[in-house]
Amino acid sequence: MIRIKTKKDIAVLREGGHRHAAILRELAAMVKPGITTLELEDRARALIAEEGDRAAFLDYQPYGADRPYPAALCVSVNDEVVHGIPNENNRVLNEGDIVSLDLGLIKKDLITDGAVTVAVGKISPELEKLLETTKKALMAGIKAAKGGKRVGDISSAIELVGVAAGYGIVEELSGHGVGYEVHEDPYVPNYGEPGKGELLKPGMVIAIEPMFNLGTSEIVLDNKDGYTYRTADGSPSAHFEHTILITKGDAEILTA
Ligand code: MG
Repeated sequence: MIRIKTKKDIAVLREGGHRHAAILRELAAMVKPGITTLELEDRARALIAEEGDRAAFLDYQPYGADRPYPAALCVSVNDEVVHGIPNENNRVLNEGDIVSLDLGLIKKDLITDGAVTVAVGKISPELEKLLETTKKALMAGIKAAKGGKRVGDISSAIELVGVAAGYGIVEELSGHGVGYEVHEDPYVPNYGEPGKGELLKPGMVIAIEPMFNLGTSEIVLDNKDGYTYRTADGSPSAHFEHTILITKGDAEILTA
């Protein structure tokens, strides 16, 4: 069931989204060669606590998972697509790596979700293009997310950008409704047909999150930790995400 947010909830989501963006900006600015994923996790927890907010992913147990997620932040390095665990799997970031930082923030009981992928020091032009293109796909998806359009319009806009660049588009994971829960309806795949799927109505809040791989689209779940997804061929992967509000016209980016 798709839940439409009230005006009051939207005001809180705006406030939470603003804070979410500030936290993610600060974490992204910390990324440099030699920093560890645990330092990013610790800083994320401190920043979340500063305004009395909570981490949406910490102790969240998605449907089908064997245990709750053990960290506030997802930190996914190079071939890790999403859900890399920063504290249990503490690692040093090296020059030339790329790292995705994914945060879910609960402010006053409402959740915003967003991610960026950042370069660690200097990266190859090939990786620069991967980051640029994945971000471009997110913006294309947001541009297509107008009230009266359909989920497939978002999906196909994202897919077009990935296909044009020749990247593997992750199909097993997708965007989603968000706000009252971490994952709500509708699901927003990163591929699809224009004009198909759920109708986008003003007041819907969704997280759009393209994941593009330099190699094939295939991904594998780490069976030991139960969370980390990696590309099957070991190629690097990028991930960008915003929580947006559907309006009558252009969507409003809540996590901008
Ligand atoms: Mg998400």
